Amino acid sequence: MQVVEAIDGDTDILGWSPGDRSSLTGSYSVRVIDGRLPAVIPDTSADKTASVLPRTQKLGLGAYVGVPLLGADGSTVGMVCAVSQQAKPHLADVDLRIVNKMAELIGALLELPANSTNIHAEQREGIRRVVAERDFEVIFQAVHDVVSGKVVGVEALARFPCEPFRPDLVLGEAALLGLDIELETAVVARALSLLPQLPKDGFVTVNISPSAVLLAPWPELLAGVDPSRLVLEITEHDAVENYDALDEVLEACRARGMRVAVDDVGAGFSSFSHVLELAPEFIKIDQSITRNIDADDARRRLAQSIAEFAAQIGATVIAEGVESQGELDAVCAAGIPWAQGYYLSRPHSHTHGFGACGALAEPVDQSFADFDLLGERRFELALTHSPIGMAIVGLDGSFQRTNRALRTILGYGRKALAGLTFQEITHPDDLDADLALLGECLAGRRRSYRMDKRFIAADGRIVWCDLTAVLVQGHRNQPHCFVSQILDVTADRMREAELARQATTDTLTKIANRSAAWGQLERLDAADEGYGILFCDIEQFKSVNDRCGHQAGDELLIEVAGRLLAAIDGDDLVARWGGDEFLVITNTVDDPGLAHLTHRITSQVQKTPIVVADGTQISIVLTIGSAAHRPGDGRSIDAILDCADQAMYKQRRFQAGVFRLAAGQPGPSS
Ligand code: C2E
Ligand code: MG
Ligand code: MG
Repeated sequence: MQVVEAIDGDTDILGWSPGDRSSLTGSYSVRVIDGRLPAVIPDTSADKTASVLPRTQKLGLGAYVGVPLLGADGSTVGMVCAVSQQAKPHLADVDLRIVNKMAELIGALLELPANSTNIHAEQREGIRRVVAERDFEVIFQAVHDVVSGKVVGVEALARFPCEPFRPDLVLGEAALLGLDIELETAVVARALSLLPQLPKDGFVTVNISPSAVLLAPWPELLAGVDPSRLVLEITEHDAVENYDALDEVLEACRARGMRVAVDDVGAGFSSFSHVLELAPEFIKIDQSITRNIDADDARRRLAQSIAEFAAQIGATVIAEGVESQGELDAVCAAGIPWAQGYYLSRPHSHTHGFGACGALAEPVDQSFADFDLLGERRFELALTHSPIGMAIVGLDGSFQRTNRALRTILGYGRKALAGLTFQEITHPDDLDADLALLGECLAGRRRSYRMDKRFIAADGRIVWCDLTAVLVQGHRNQPHCFVSQILDVTADRMREAELARQATTDTLTKIANRSAAWGQLERLDAADEGYGILFCDIEQFKSVNDRCGHQAGDELLIEVAGRLLAAIDGDDLVARWGGDEFLVITNTVDDPGLAHLTHRITSQVQKTPIVVADGTQISIVLTIGSAAHRPGDGRSIDAILDCADQAMYKQRRFQAGVFRLAAGQPGPSS
């Protein structure tokens, strides 16, 4: 109760006289003290809390200034208030300072006693009895998941059969009697004794002041209790003087498996300090923020900021005092997963049981909100600073977000990339494979995939990339987006290609080597579509080496290789088989075709003498023997090579005969 001690000025305004009493519960005073109302209210109709207080209408209050009157021990024993029935838009700090000075002066002149003496003797007796006889009840209010309505935990709330009834007020007055720790401990003990009758898979929070946390006999309280179900809800609107001591005890409690919540965040001036100092697992947003959150953008933003902050410190947010569907929807949209309030379920005895509530939040696209709020900052950092290209890719393939590394790899600016889909800049030959893997993710058969693929950069370059794409699921496990990591492996690819080229290239002539020729033969053999081989040998090559030196021999080989290359068809392959032997591998398999090719090559290669560096002219004679593998003839590569080789020797003998005939000597026998 508040009792009017003295009134000055126009005493008729309020219709009050000294000695009049009224309930503290509906008063401005108690709200100024706990922070729900500011000390200076220039216009009560403009203040959300003041305008709806019945007392505002009853007394016709237009403006208000209230300052606590402090007793000898610094506790609040009363209020000095200045009121007006008109709004006073110009009330400011200076007015607050004046009333403050008056309060100090009154306090000094009256030498006010400590608060405890202000409690009525009757009330004091009532509280003493309640504590001695443990005459109280503990009831529970469920905490619900806003989307599913499921009960995730319950909060224990004390109920006392004595004045001033409200648990926070009874506990406040018990504190003045030095009985607060005993009472709080008794309430916690009662709540813990009911643990077996509470929902097994949920947590149970108990409200507790920092002093009680420090002094409670924890080992005794926790005997036979599973501490991992217990959440200590730190209920304190005032500054905590020694966070170190509190932190130490809370750490010990955490070591046993308990968790910590900070209650009423956003109410009073200290709640944010508690959050910062205690790094709680749960943050309970005070009803003063929840109230009208659906209609008040500032409250919504504050709630959302708290949710974002909570995500960064790994805490879960619970909104308190949800009283309407609108508030529930707004809480959910702000990214808050759990809530309490009369709209969801009222506090009641454990004997009634706890069920999911019927009230569910309008399902917003929580998936992205979750993704954004819970991981965004950390992800943002990773995204920004990663040396690997990263992107958030929508299910339609659009680049929703990209990092600098990726934009550098692909050569696009942020805006340009945001207007593109990955399909548009994927090499057409790689698109089907990429889309198939993506489809498997969307069908739920895999969560991620990795592939080497080609992107087309802004300047048209082909960029080889090592892509890892991970599907992010959102609300109700629905596919939401992909997080892609993209490494530029073009340089590796080129190195590999160069090594492969080197491994299959003849170092002198720069045409395919024996290994490349063999590989080609194996491929053609496996396809069994037939192939032809021309075995080509340079006549008298050894004598060129002997007569003109190795340098000239090398030049000759290079020139012959070049002429061979120029003489063959696009799909055919010419390779240096070894020394002065070359192989032409062709698709032509019929004898007339092979003969025609042989003729074309010989005439091209032999058409003019080759002039080497020292000016010597060397005429070339190329001897060619051919053989073919035809589909189904069952002949091995070795057999065909052997045939071509034999044919070459046969041809050589024949040519030697022709030369001898030309020189008037006897011809070859065969
Ligand atoms: P609190 O811990 O923030 O508890 C929430 C209060 O809001 C409870 O009031 C609950 O009944 C009330 N409430 C729940 N939903 C709604 C709603 O939708 N609208 C409105 N207007 N109120 C709602 P209660 O039980 O009267 O407790 C008041 C405060 O007293 C508690 O605030 C807590 O600070 C303190 N308290 C209660 N029980 C205990 C206790 O066992 N130990 C300690 N230390 N403090 C307690
Ligand atoms: Mg609480
Ligand atoms: Mg609370």
